[in-house]
Amino acid sequence: MNILKTKKDLRDTVRGWQSQNLRIGFVPTMGALHAGHVELVRHALTQTDRVIVSIFVNPTQFAPNEDFSAYPRPFDADVEKLTAANASAVYTPSVAEMYPQGFATTVSVKGVTEGLCGASRPTHFDGVATVVSKLLLQARPDAAFFGEKDWQQLQVVKRLVADLDIGVDIVGVPIVRDVNGLALSSRNAYLNAEQLQIASRLNKILFASAEKIKNGADIAVALALGKDEIISAGFDRVDYLECCEAETLVPCAIKGAKPLRLLAAAFLGKARLIDNVAVV
Ligand code: AMP
Repeated sequence: MNILKTKKDLRDTVRGWQSQNLRIGFVPTMGALHAGHVELVRHALTQTDRVIVSIFVNPTQFAPNEDFSAYPRPFDADVEKLTAANASAVYTPSVAEMYPQGFATTVSVKGVTEGLCGASRPTHFDGVATVVSKLLLQARPDAAFFGEKDWQQLQVVKRLVADLDIGVDIVGVPIVRDVNGLALSSRNAYLNAEQLQIASRLNKILFASAEKIKNGADIAVALALGKDEIISAGFDRVDYLECCEAETLVPCAIKGAKPLRLLAAAFLGKARLIDNVAVV
C-alpha cells in the first residue's frame, strides 16, 4: 500500500490511476481505525477501483477544551488494517502540509450546521467543512465515502460539495455497531468496561424512541422520555436528543411526509458519544 505524505504525491498517484481510466474512491478519517472505517473501505471498493484513505487529525475541528492532543494515533496498526482491507493508499499529510503559513480561508456552511452538534461545538463544522473541501480538491476522487454515524457531518458534506461544484459523488455508509448495538467510534477507547455497558444503552433508547414516534407517539413527549432514559441509563449529561428532517436537519414536532432522523449526543466519562437512527 502506498503511503502518501504530500499533496503532490496524492495528486500524482490519483492522476496516474485516472489516466488508466480507473475510478477512484476516497475515505477521509482521523485514524484510530475500527470496523466502521474498514466498512467504508469495503463499501468504496464495491463502487471504485482504487481506494485512498486519509488519516489526518484535523486541529481546526477541535475546540481548545476538546481532545485534539489525547486523540489516539495508532498509525502502524491503522496501516495494517488498511492493507488487510485492500486500500490502495493512505494519505497522511502533516498539519503544515494542510495549513501552510498564511492559510486564511474557511468554508462555512449555513443551515444544516446550526443545530445538534453545531450548537454545542460552534467551531466544529467550519473545521470539518474546510478540511473536507481541501481533501476533496487535493485528491479529486470520483466518489467519497462518509459514515452515517456522523449524520450531520454527512449532510454538511453533501451541501458543500453541491454548493461549491466540487464534482465528487458523496456516498453515505450505514453505521457499524458492536454486538450490543453500540456504534463503533474511536472515542469508545475512552470508556472502561462499566461505561461501555452504559454506552450500549444509547442505541436501544434511540431505536425504541424512533419506534414510538413511528407508531404515532407525540414527538416532544417521546424526546422528553428518551432524555430521562439516557440519564437513568447512567450517562452524565444529555447534550441533545432531537427529531429532525433527515436531510435539512430542521427539528420536527409533527410527523409529516418527509423522512425523519432521531439524533443524540450524550456525555459519559471522558467521552461525548453520538448516535442516530432513522424514523421509518
Ligand atoms: P472519524 O475517523 O471518526 O473522523 O471517522 C471517519 C469516517 O468514518 C466518518 O465518515 C465517520 O462517519 C465514519 N465512521 C466512524 N464510525 C463509524 C461507524 N461506526 N460506522 C460507519 N462509519 C463510521
